[in-house]
Amino acid sequence: MENKAYRGHVLALPYPGQGHINPLLQFSKRLVSKGLKATLATTLYIHNAMQPQSSSSLQFDTISDGYDEGGFAQAESIHAYLNRMETIGSKTLADLIIKNKNTANPIDCIIYDPFLPWALEVAKKFGIFGAAFFTQTCAVNFIYYHVHHGLLKLPITSTPISIPGLPVLELEDMPSFISVPGSYPAYFEMVLNQFSSSDKADAILVNTFYELEPETVDSMSKVCQILPIGPTIPSFYLDKCLENDNDYGLNLFVSDSFVCNNWLNTKPKGSVIYLSFGSMASLSNKQMEELAFALKGSKFHFLWVVMASEEAKLPEKFVEEIGNKGLVVQWCSQLEVLSNKAIGCFLTHCGWNSTLEALSLGVPMVGLPQWTDQTTTAKYVQDVWKVGVRAKVCENGIVEREEIEFCIKEVMEGEKGKDFQKNAKKWRELAIKAISEGGNSDKNIDEFVSKFINS
Ligand code: UDP
Repeated sequence: MENKAYRGHVLALPYPGQGHINPLLQFSKRLVSKGLKATLATTLYIHNAMQPQSSSSLQFDTISDGYDEGGFAQAESIHAYLNRMETIGSKTLADLIIKNKNTANPIDCIIYDPFLPWALEVAKKFGIFGAAFFTQTCAVNFIYYHVHHGLLKLPITSTPISIPGLPVLELEDMPSFISVPGSYPAYFEMVLNQFSSSDKADAILVNTFYELEPETVDSMSKVCQILPIGPTIPSFYLDKCLENDNDYGLNLFVSDSFVCNNWLNTKPKGSVIYLSFGSMASLSNKQMEELAFALKGSKFHFLWVVMASEEAKLPEKFVEEIGNKGLVVQWCSQLEVLSNKAIGCFLTHCGWNSTLEALSLGVPMVGLPQWTDQTTTAKYVQDVWKVGVRAKVCENGIVEREEIEFCIKEVMEGEKGKDFQKNAKKWRELAIKAISEGGNSDKNIDEFVSKFINS
């Protein structure tokens, strides 16, 4: 029997992917520090595979996406997955709410990933406060907002593109679903549908912080009440206010921290390039080859995350040949790695979590965006935040080895490199300030909590 008095009970519902679970899980921990009880609901498949451990205030529970045995990999198509998740997810989310109904702490707020807009309908059916939690930059959200509301007509026939509060954008800076018409129609529909019911949400939270995108936040706030509440990074790496919060806590892949730390600790300060393409990486064989040759040709050490599904794309004998110059692992604790003094630059796909982690830890970047929002984020890395460069893509869609080597040099050494480091340090300080007590994000979290408690 629970007897602790909580200010309310929130249920957080992420889209089932590492890059969506991490920020919502982290935000839940912040809410717990504000006196709320929080439950994170993953799919049954993820829950069974990961077996996350509930603590006294942060609980884990499940809904079903209809693919309990194999998750997304079991689905016939993206479209089939999303459809079935909506049907089965809605029903099992309702079951979860009912299960909690007659307990000491019934669920009175649902924070849902707007990739799953149906969650708001379920919340409303039960008269529960519903908050959308956007996991991409405010800039990307505002671009999709414009397309969804017909304010930006597709296909784009003239460039540059002007959206209030955003820098002038070329086609290559737009999310790939827009710059490559017809690509991934089911995902494109999903990102636009984030706004299908968000006007009915009781709050709209965005995982960014005001100082990072002030003009965009101001501009979007004129049409949509948004609360930037990020960065959602474990407290140990920022304000150090939450106890024992040094990891997201739910990893879909196994990392070997011991090996990574030991290896990094033998390398001089700022001498290592860290490379990762996130949790959904799928590079072409040619791109993997170009990366491998660039790393071999460069004079720097490197730590490269090559997921098990990508390993066969490495050139033959690559791992043997690099010796102690490089370390290739299938997964790592990225926060631990990024905060290691040996790291001089992060060659990244510019997934939003990875980028926000690099900004928050003060690490300059080389951007090699692949698809979805990564292209827009890479534009910001280079031209708005000025913390690195975006590698140029050839006509065949590949970033060639010479370009990769050139970008790495630009970030790792020289005058430009020093500027990137200076700017990265500035963003880290601003990130810490935003989430610390009295900072803009902290105030927005308080505003959100009181809005929901008094609703
Ligand atoms: N990540 C990690 N270890 C790795 C690679 C990635 O812990 O070896 C984490 C990273 O810290 C981030 C998430 O996985 O929080 C990836 O999210 P992101 O939005 O960057 O990319 P996505 O996986 O969604 O493409």
